[in-house]
Amino acid sequence: MTVIDREACEQRDRNDPLARFRDRFRLPAGLIYLDGNSLGPLPADLPRQIVETIERDWGERLIRSWNDAGWIDAPSRVGDRIACLIGARPGEVVAADSTSVNLFKLLAGALGLRAGRKVILTEHRNFPTDLYIMQGLVALLEQGYELRRADADDLADALDEDVAVVVLTHVNYRTARMHDMAALTAAAHDAGALMLWDLAHSVGAVPVDLTAAGVDLAVGCGYKYLNGGPGAPAFLFVRHELQADLRQPLSGWMGHADPFDFESDYRPADGIGRNLCGTPPMLSLIALECALEIWRDVDPAAIREKSIALTELFITLVERRAAGLGLSLASPREPAERGSQVSFGHGQGYAVMQALIARGVIGDFRAPNLLRFGCAPLYLRYVDVFDAAVTLADILASRAWDFAAFKQRAVVT
Ligand SMILES: *Cc1c(COP(=O)(O)O)cnc(C)c1O
Repeated sequence: MTVIDREACEQRDRNDPLARFRDRFRLPAGLIYLDGNSLGPLPADLPRQIVETIERDWGERLIRSWNDAGWIDAPSRVGDRIACLIGARPGEVVAADSTSVNLFKLLAGALGLRAGRKVILTEHRNFPTDLYIMQGLVALLEQGYELRRADADDLADALDEDVAVVVLTHVNYRTARMHDMAALTAAAHDAGALMLWDLAHSVGAVPVDLTAAGVDLAVGCGYKYLNGGPGAPAFLFVRHELQADLRQPLSGWMGHADPFDFESDYRPADGIGRNLCGTPPMLSLIALECALEIWRDVDPAAIREKSIALTELFITLVERRAAGLGLSLASPREPAERGSQVSFGHGQGYAVMQALIARGVIGDFRAPNLLRFGCAPLYLRYVDVFDAAVTLADILASRAWDFAAFKQRAVVT
């Protein structure tokens, strides 16, 4: 067993091809941020660009900026930037709305493409908003649709000729377990179903190639690993070949073929734009666009390599230094099956996380007992992972979590 000390981690940071990206973010001194999977940090250049948009494009140019500053094209422009990160082709992605709303739109559209089939297949442990949206749509339609839920390992067996669409999250939010996108997409297609992936915990963290996997539909999040800011616009993907037939139900004017003809009847736009609904939130969209600039220079292979190295390092260090202190690994041990976060179960998980945060190590807690540590390769250092593991072990060994104040649940965990 080789000893891993802080110096060895510093050495890895010096050799890290992604090290230079840390400066493109504002990270508070003295803080170790392991929650970029929930809210990415502030890109350093973003405040300047937002102030410029506000003062010049809004303040001085006013309404003219919809044309002159390219505001009206921003959803597809930003979508094309995201397309580069998920193996989509230009014109297959738009940035819009929230992940929840985009899921609603695409799921409803998908059901329309598989008339006669009445089952939506998903997994028990899918992210709650995804399950809630599916439940809401089934109730709204009142057409005998059924939400079928299976365990992650039994999905292929749950597929049959009644399934219209399979809706899955690629990387699980609790455990970071990653599905085999290509294999499950092929299984869905073999059963005649459409495949819709939620990429919230994938984009910017693990390799995604929607084209190679033959994926039909996808949604994803702008404020996690993409660092677009709290509540950043989300995105949606529709495979080119399906775009002309997919009718999404939120038929707002921004998805109309000619919004400024002000016709009385809805006619969907030809391409991916038909999946827009209302006026885009321009300040948020510009913020996301600014955050995406950073990704232009990033080598996706280096992201995956460092992501695995960081999560491996964290698991190894925690298991060595905190052995016998009540932690159990809740993420896959096999790196190929894991996204970019590590979760440990602990009976006092909430209090342990509060104690960590009080010591400047920010991760988060997911009920009922999970400590989650996001390892975003773009700005996290190996020494950060080392220090976080040492702090966690110390808190557990000293029972520093055992204070009433650390057990008081906040609204947002
Ligand atoms: C974070 C996340 C969402 C977020 O949805 P919002 O509509 O942006 O609140 C949706 N799905 C998954 C799987 C997520 O991880």
